[in-house]
Amino acid sequence: MLRNLTRTKQSVLRLSTRSLATTSIPTTQKAIIFDKNNGPLEYKDIPVPKPKPNEILINVKYSGVCHTDLHAWKGDWPLPTKLPLVGGHEGAGVVVALGDEVKNFKIGDLAGIKWLNGSCQSCEYCVNGFESNCAQADLSGYTHDGSFQQYATADAVQAAKIPQGTDLAGVSPILCAGITVYKALKTAHLKAGDIVAISGAGGGLGSLAVQYAKAMGYRVLAIDGGKEKGELVKSLGAEFYVDYQSSPDLIEEIQSKTKGGPHGVINVSVSDKAISQSTKFVRSTGSVVLVGLPPNAVVHSDVFNHVIKSISIKGSYVGNRADTREAIEFFTRGLVKSPIKVVGLSELPGVYELMEQGKILGRYVVDTSK
Ligand code: NAD
Ligand code: ZN
Repeated sequence: MLRNLTRTKQSVLRLSTRSLATTSIPTTQKAIIFDKNNGPLEYKDIPVPKPKPNEILINVKYSGVCHTDLHAWKGDWPLPTKLPLVGGHEGAGVVVALGDEVKNFKIGDLAGIKWLNGSCQSCEYCVNGFESNCAQADLSGYTHDGSFQQYATADAVQAAKIPQGTDLAGVSPILCAGITVYKALKTAHLKAGDIVAISGAGGGLGSLAVQYAKAMGYRVLAIDGGKEKGELVKSLGAEFYVDYQSSPDLIEEIQSKTKGGPHGVINVSVSDKAISQSTKFVRSTGSVVLVGLPPNAVVHSDVFNHVIKSISIKGSYVGNRADTREAIEFFTRGLVKSPIKVVGLSELPGVYELMEQGKILGRYVVDTSK
């Protein structure tokens, strides 16, 4: 009798035959979901998804909150989201079920939900390691329900491998912010001792970019607004800080501090103006890397300046599987650590408000059990 009651209460769902016999997965779970862009963010029970043959099911423990999640909810970009949508693409958790074709994960492994949930694996871009540029790219928290839920599916080929024993809250921001800035720094083609400016250095991507840059042997000039962000980036290893809110002449200040401008600039701010300014203060022959995606933004680069200084401007979009493995290794070796604040999943709407106001230092991470 008692046994029957417990069984009914748990409403156990048996998944694939390859799920561990003892693993019981609930049929419903908590999630944050919205029906339309900018509509209410509802914290409620929704069904647990079933993995397709190529997918794993991850019991997400923690998920970082990326500014991209805010863009997705607001519908900021020219690419439509699926609706209704569960956002989130920095999810770290435990594998609880495997689709029948999965060979590279087993139950109990730690795994991560990344922005690139899956890609075709056979087009020109995929075979050359540019999976994020695949025309069939499936995006977590955008075209595929993401990590703001307790159970999420991911293509086993793209899901991130996380070594056993890794701190799951700590590693979660690496799954988008870390991979993205690590790849962006590679894209800048710098050499040890060069100066890199990180514009938007106090936010989620920026606070990791400062540390990856240091670990890769570069000197860092951090740009953001306010005293607190200045203190944070200096504590993470930035050599210079320029406050865009109080600097009387940002371009002049950066060029004088760096004696001619930084060799590279990683733009992770959500500011049109900051991006265009970076083409002015970058050093001759330097690289401007575009990462942040303010809505309807256009980068203005004066052609005379562009040619005479021979600068390059490049876009950088997350990273591939090799970048993922390498970016996680920097974390597990203790070389980078996202400054995180952990809150309950139900508190996500408040996190979006703070993010919109530019008030977040580092990264917020949601605990899916609360
Ligand atoms: P965030 O809100 O945590 O950080 C943005 C930071 O920019 C904040 O600290 C803010 O104070 C600062 N900022 C605002 N105006 C500025 C200015 N004029 N100059 C300098 N700093 C300024 O956001 P995040 O999660 O780090 O994401 C940043 C952007 O990167 C978003 O647009 C996001 O969508 C994008 N993104 C792109 C990729 C990619 O692959 N290209 C991947 C992830 C995120
Ligand atoms: Zn992201």
